[in-house]
Amino acid sequence: MNVPVWNPAVEFMEREALERLQLVQLRKTVEQALKTPFYRRRLGEAGLTRPEDITSLRDLRSIPYTTKDDLRAAYPHGLLAVDLEQAIRLHTSSGTTGTPTVIYHTRRDIDHWTELVARCITATGASARDVFQNMTNYGLFTGGLGLHYGAERVGMLVIPASSGNTSRQIQLMKNFQTTVVHATPSYLLHLHASLASEGVDLEQLALRKAFIGAEPHSEQTRRKIEELFGIAAYNSYGLSEMNGPGVAFECVHQTGLHLWEDAYLLEVVDPRTLRPCAEEETGEIVLTTLQRQATPLLRYRTRDLSCWMGGHCPCGRGHRRLARIKGRSDDMLIINGVNVFPSQIEDVLMKTPEVGTNYLIQIEKRGSLDRLTVKTEIYAKLFTGDARTLEDLRERLGEALRSAILVKPVVELHEPGSLPVSEGKAKRVVDLRPAF
Ligand code: AMP
Ligand code: ZN
Repeated sequence: MNVPVWNPAVEFMEREALERLQLVQLRKTVEQALKTPFYRRRLGEAGLTRPEDITSLRDLRSIPYTTKDDLRAAYPHGLLAVDLEQAIRLHTSSGTTGTPTVIYHTRRDIDHWTELVARCITATGASARDVFQNMTNYGLFTGGLGLHYGAERVGMLVIPASSGNTSRQIQLMKNFQTTVVHATPSYLLHLHASLASEGVDLEQLALRKAFIGAEPHSEQTRRKIEELFGIAAYNSYGLSEMNGPGVAFECVHQTGLHLWEDAYLLEVVDPRTLRPCAEEETGEIVLTTLQRQATPLLRYRTRDLSCWMGGHCPCGRGHRRLARIKGRSDDMLIINGVNVFPSQIEDVLMKTPEVGTNYLIQIEKRGSLDRLTVKTEIYAKLFTGDARTLEDLRERLGEALRSAILVKPVVELHEPGSLPVSEGKAKRVVDLRPAF
């Protein structure tokens, strides 16, 4: 097989062998989970008291779901399945949607996570020959240390730049001829817009790949990053409850994200009825860890919306692919009764060549109706032209958005650099409507 591979035995495993492995690991995971007070109670209520009660992968359906609220309620130790002295690290979620949750790791957990990330990196064609600058936060957020360990294992030269300080990022990229970066898509767009003011042009850099993730983004945004930098950008999906990065990643073919099925069992369910979705039908991603010792999680409801892709990837890996994350079930905005995903708005903006790299969605109440305002930065040169051009662009964007989301927004055009910038996950939505 002529594609870069980290662990051929696992990555090209036959489906039958993979499923046998999944069953063995699911049983071990249930055994491990039964060591925690939380799961002893929860599984006990469902009549599951022994790992042998799981006799086939179909028995997964008899296991109750775990939610983020369960994790919060079990904070800090309720889901710890090993003695504290066996745990060597903990991470908490970023708390984007509320109070944090904690995940503990044993040495083997960290080692296994590192292997998964090394697989992902290698699948994109990156290797020990690359200089890797990790622009995500080092700390409780998993994107920093997660990618760091994986990249070191691959043998890359790692620059642990962490997030922020764009001027320093650019200097590091230039001085060490960074070839691969890891960042949120919004931050990479911001970094590109800052190159000129730093007096650096692309010819002085050696960048060829980016790993982008941690926040929802559209295919258009990926293409925009690729075109602006002249590189290939690979989608990286993960969440701290499932370690962090390394859950699913695109390979060189960039046709969906391979989910490592020896490490995670994936289900896609209708978030309202919890009925299993068919292939290519969008629903909520539910994940079960298959390898974790310190914090095993069974049927964890991620709130992320996506679907299994059908068919086979040309790379030949048997691990099935997830489609790009469409958003979160709790991300969805309801504007005058219409369901809108921020990613749909982003899609329209990024398809419009005049639009710059930053935008903000604001919703407020006007009388009994919701009012949606889309504020977007456009390239500076457009403000020096005549006012008619700006008016045309505003109208064109308003119309394009209306036909995509079925709500007519107020469109505001802003100069580059005037909207708030975030160095981590971008906060794209400001909802000013009163709660009820
Ligand atoms: P955290 O646990 O703080 O790392 O946040 C994880 C969440 O970030 C996931 O549940 C997703 O909602 C989001 N996320 C991570 N990677 C991606 C990605 N590649 N595309 C879309 N959303 C992502
Ligand atoms: Zn592939």
